[in-house]
Amino acid sequence: MKTIAELQFVAETWSPEQVFQWAFHAFENRIAISSAFGAEGMVLIDIASKLRPNFRLFTLDTGFLFPETYSLMQRVEQKYGVAIERVQASLSPAEQEKIHGAALWQRDPDSCCDLRKIEPLRRKLQQLEAWITSIRRDQTEVRAAAGKIQWDSKFGLVKINPIVDWTSTQVWSYIRSHNVPYNPLHDRSYPSIGCTHCTRAVAPGEDARAGRWAGFAKTECGLHLIQPAPDLTA
Ligand code: SF4
Repeated sequence: MKTIAELQFVAETWSPEQVFQWAFHAFENRIAISSAFGAEGMVLIDIASKLRPNFRLFTLDTGFLFPETYSLMQRVEQKYGVAIERVQASLSPAEQEKIHGAALWQRDPDSCCDLRKIEPLRRKLQQLEAWITSIRRDQTEVRAAAGKIQWDSKFGLVKINPIVDWTSTQVWSYIRSHNVPYNPLHDRSYPSIGCTHCTRAVAPGEDARAGRWAGFAKTECGLHLIQPAPDLTA
């Protein structure tokens, strides 16, 4: 039996479909796709639907998503016949305001992401043995070291990134050639879409993630920490 570190090396030559097949076989129903329904996430959902009809899919519903994102979620459920699990924060937006003050995202976006994304994700991942994400290496510095199969030391389970070596061009080529639905905000200069409060359109020539937390040094929610794999058997 190979260790996660060995698999991480071997899996680098695998196609997204091969990564999915290995992951679905290894973890059966103890694995789920995490998606915010960006372009990359839609590719994953489409590939997964062709390999396993009742794949598990969840999203971190911060309560601050765009109407276009909520609409796309409905479309995904209809087209792919899956029920999206909406994982929510312990505090409602009103409770957060009462305890932490108004517009926490403007004053301390890390704390806001902790409350609305990290804690709910940690709670969700405790129910799983592996999760599947749509990160790509060229998106941020933190993601540059990600593997297709890796140990997630932050959350303590296996993390699967089937299209980690894809480019944005490959993602859009897949979407067009397979007629995959996508968030219409992408056509309005929103290459990366998160919460309404922390996402803006990008100007021509700006980095694809320049519209996330504009004005802050922050580039990540904190969901994707990449560290070397420990010697754990798969
Ligand atoms: S992206 Fe913004 S609004 Fe959403 S959880 Fe993070 S700081 Fe809060």
